[in-house]
Amino acid sequence: ECSLLRFIQDNKPENRNLQVAAEQEVTAVELSHAITNHEITLAFQPKLTVQGLLLRGVEALARWKHPTKGIISPGIFIPLAERHGLIDALTRYLLQKAFEHKRRWQQYGLRFHLAFNLSPLSLADADMVDWLLKMTQDFGVAPADVTFEITENALLGELASAIRTLARLRLKGFHIAIDDYGTGFANAQQLSRVPATELKIDRSLVHRVASRPQQYTILASTVTLAKNLNLTTVAEGVETEEDFLVLQELGVDLVQGYYFSKPLFADDLLAWVKTGISEMRRRYNKH
Ligand code: C2E
Ligand code: MG
Ligand code: MG
Ligand code: MG
Repeated sequence: ECSLLRFIQDNKPENRNLQVAAEQEVTAVELSHAITNHEITLAFQPKLTVQGLLLRGVEALARWKHPTKGIISPGIFIPLAERHGLIDALTRYLLQKAFEHKRRWQQYGLRFHLAFNLSPLSLADADMVDWLLKMTQDFGVAPADVTFEITENALLGELASAIRTLARLRLKGFHIAIDDYGTGFANAQQLSRVPATELKIDRSLVHRVASRPQQYTILASTVTLAKNLNLTTVAEGVETEEDFLVLQELGVDLVQGYYFSKPLFADDLLAWVKTGISEMRRRYNKH
């Protein structure tokens, strides 16, 4: 097991061009130009099953390749887009890009899931559900192969209207994940009312859990709660073997984190899928 995990780490592709620079000053005007000039692109981070380390899917994560300022983090430009009325245009642009990639992967015979982060503002966009459905038809993507990730905090604001939109998406067959769970203050009852299929436990509960008993208690009860609500459990931000072993012991379903792979641009992801993971799986099956 140890040698397997070391193997995974040793075979991670280089991510030299994915370093996110420190705080950059960017304006809404620059962002609006960036959308039209195709400066915003997607990286993809694998989501793996704890059992067998199979590739379940990838999460699309936005990256702004600024011509002079380097790679800008979505943590900077997504809130900027939300504040300046650019989020709908950006979401539609990125989803189309994500579906183009998904269609290409399917043409290669790769049928893994696609996870896409949705802004809470998109849940208030009345046309979004119909548009998303039309996109699945245009690109030949099955809704059941797509998961929309919504942060826990986004659900607290406009709970009733957000739930209506999510319920419509769920009815169409899309999967719904509650993202960054554990950072907000949703109580168990609110959680149970969200028509979700997946609970993504925030990195802050996962990071170094192996050496933090109190954090372990919180993580363990979160996993139990999710299981009792019939939600697939996902741990994000897995960075070490020790933390992975704890997650395995707790019966978490899926893992994601730098320990397995950083977010990768499409070419690097394909290389990882072709060589890294197939070799990894072969070794894993020998144990
Ligand atoms: P998120 O959806 O919770 O994504 C996970 C974040 O954690 C990503 O940051 C990812 O690069 C990072 N991460 C993954 N594994 C590890 C790890 O092992 N250790 C550490 N330290 N970090 C890890 P990123 O890409 O900077 O994205 C930040 C947030 O921006 C995302 O959090 C998501 O909420 C939002 N975001 C990203 N892309 C989009 C998008 O296309 N649309 C919307 N609305 N939001 C997006
Ligand atoms: Mg996410
Ligand atoms: Mg998350
Ligand atoms: Mg997060």
